[in-house]
Amino acid sequence: IGRHPTPQAGPEGVPGVDRIIAIGSGKGGVGKSTVSSNLAVALARQGRRVGLLDADIYGPSQPRMMGVNTRPGSPDGKTIIPLQAHGVTMMSIGLMVDPAKAVVWRGPMLMGALQQMLTQVEWGELDVLLVDLPPGTGDVQLTLCQKTHLTGSIVVSTPQDVALLDARKALDMFGTLKTPILGLIENMSTYVCPKCGHEEHIFGHGGVAAEAEAIGVPFLGQLPIDLDTRLAGDAGTPIAAGDSPMAEAYATLAKRLID
Ligand code: ADP
Repeated sequence: IGRHPTPQAGPEGVPGVDRIIAIGSGKGGVGKSTVSSNLAVALARQGRRVGLLDADIYGPSQPRMMGVNTRPGSPDGKTIIPLQAHGVTMMSIGLMVDPAKAVVWRGPMLMGALQQMLTQVEWGELDVLLVDLPPGTGDVQLTLCQKTHLTGSIVVSTPQDVALLDARKALDMFGTLKTPILGLIENMSTYVCPKCGHEEHIFGHGGVAAEAEAIGVPFLGQLPIDLDTRLAGDAGTPIAAGDSPMAEAYATLAKRLID
């Protein structure tokens, strides 16, 4: 009696966080996590307060790429204290589970874990929170877009036709869910031989820029295949943390994303 109807839960932000940007891809292995960690570090170097949430529940790679492996603390058993690495506040499901064991969860458990990482983690005051999504267009992406107020999304793809085909599905999903697409990034677009300087387009070239133009979204830039990027990621110190042409390329991307 006299009870008000429960309001429908609309998309919510994360208190203290200005912008939430999801980074997605159509398929795995195109460099989405590499781009996420490097963009996070590049933004932090530009003085932004940056968070990185690794929501790639089945294959969390941020602990390795950011060089952290301690389990986040939870002094009160409720809130989770995120970790700090290379100037970035970060959290990954990979830090909460045994890294050697496969995560075998059904949809509802995934959603629970994702919600927990958004709402129970003490993100603090952030200019931007980057969310490294799992590849594809599954439950995690759907829930995140519907339940969380996202500023927008970025889609990473290689120029290869099969990757682009899947990237289009991711773009379509963000479109359907009314998540603004902030731009596309072409990763692994060229390879320059360090010995002779010859340039090879191993996965093709330019396809992502053409796609961005075709669907009318910004093209944020292209990144070459680069051995040092891979080595730096494996070593837990993203290439964007150092001084190199690749670090500059990431700085430029970061500025295009937020200026
Ligand atoms: P995804 O998140 O899309 O699955 P990752 O970021 O894990 O992809 O990248 C897959 C592999 O490719 C990793 O070993 C990573 O170090 C490597 N990689 C990503 N981008 C580049 C690049 N531009 N040049 C060289 N290696 C890269």
